[in-house]
Amino acid sequence: MSELCDIAIIGGGPVGTALALALRDSGLNIVVLEARKPEVQNTDPRALALSYGSRLLLDKLGVWRQIEQVSPIKTIHVSQKDTPCVAYLYASEMKVPELGYVLPYPALQAALHQTLLQTEVHYLEDATVNHLDSAAEGATISYQHEGREQQLQARLAVVADGGKLLAESHPPKVSGYGQSAVIAHVTCTTPQADTAFERFTTQGPVALLPYKDGYEIVWTGSHAQAEQMLQWDDATFLAELHAHFGDAVGEFLSVGKRSSFPLRLKRAPDTTLPHTVLIGNAAQTLHPVAGQGFNMGVRDAWELARVILRAPPAALGSATMLANYRSSRFLDRNAGIGFTDGLVRIFSNDLPLLNTGRGWAISVLERLPFAKKFVAKRMMFGANG
Ligand SMILES: Cc1cc2nc3c(=O)[nH]c(=O)nc-3n(C[C@H](O)[C@H](O)[C@H](O)COP(=O)(O)OP(=O)(O)OC[C@H]3O[C@@H](n4cnc5c(N)ncnc54)[C@H](O)[C@@H]3O)c2cc1C
Repeated sequence: MSELCDIAIIGGGPVGTALALALRDSGLNIVVLEARKPEVQNTDPRALALSYGSRLLLDKLGVWRQIEQVSPIKTIHVSQKDTPCVAYLYASEMKVPELGYVLPYPALQAALHQTLLQTEVHYLEDATVNHLDSAAEGATISYQHEGREQQLQARLAVVADGGKLLAESHPPKVSGYGQSAVIAHVTCTTPQADTAFERFTTQGPVALLPYKDGYEIVWTGSHAQAEQMLQWDDATFLAELHAHFGDAVGEFLSVGKRSSFPLRLKRAPDTTLPHTVLIGNAAQTLHPVAGQGFNMGVRDAWELARVILRAPPAALGSATMLANYRSSRFLDRNAGIGFTDGLVRIFSNDLPLLNTGRGWAISVLERLPFAKKFVAKRMMFGANG
């Protein structure tokens, strides 16, 4: 026999957990189904740049104080390779203590999880959802828990699984960039305190995010270039990184374990499923150039919780409630996708004329305080700011 709940959250990653926390005092019966087994350590190698806006949301969720191992970003240095053009974004100009923060994905996930364990929300690990049936009367979720097939009926199913469950039945629109990102921790001779670097190159952007004794790098290139970056021995990797990135942090001294991720824009179709909503990477998977993926996902979670809490209890999962959520996320979602996609397309190709134009754009940004504030505000708070 199926069990019943008000809201089933499929995927207890950072976005699904944030939603569960935002709803913890709602009185609703919420179940989070997470595929990961409790005994398996989360070794995801990603470092995330969280915006100041995400910090404020995580503060409201009671998570921020649980986060360990975080490094602040107070300055962002933006440049274009092979041009002298540089722009700086400063926290002080934005009248905020920090523009953002860098932390490992597992540290964020652990803090969210620890906070969730102190609530009444039912968090089920080793629960892999294999089917979702979205019908007019409600959603039926089939999942395997500790080896046994189970079913759950929900008035609202929230898909926060990163984008796999509905990939075949409701395929997203995919734009491949032909790029992968290689990520690793590096140390160097002259790290710049609390400064993140975003350097655009014809091969793709390279970002240095300050973390502890060095930087978390996100170095993009074609899939073949990324494969080569993984193959290089450490000395070659450090020398090539220096040649590519330049002298802003001196010589690179050491590199940790390298991993690579293929990059693409995935956007779930606008068609709607009854009693079902997609959030976080399940709704949109972005190129990490502007560090917007989780930042946008946590705004999805926050806004969905707000819409649920404002709706009359009987309207949970209704077409009206889902339409309200979609319209409340329309501007921020589309602006975030457009901003990130535009950055990749305009700033990551080898058309020679564009290189001059890109350098010029960065110089203009540096000279126009209102443009800088606009960009910094977008990155911190999204389009609904
Ligand atoms: C190289 C790289 C760098 C990035 N840098 C940044 C950055 O600096 N800033 C930023 O904001 N974002 C960044 N991102 C994006 C960010 O990692 C994602 O946007 C974020 O992790 C999305 O969270 P999510 O909870 O939606 O999905 P995920 O993190 O994918 O979590 C999904 C969860 O669902 C679970 N799950 C999956 N399938 C099932 C199933 N069938 N049943 C039950 N559970 C399931 C998974 O185990 C997982 O716990 C980066 C991404 C990459 C690849």
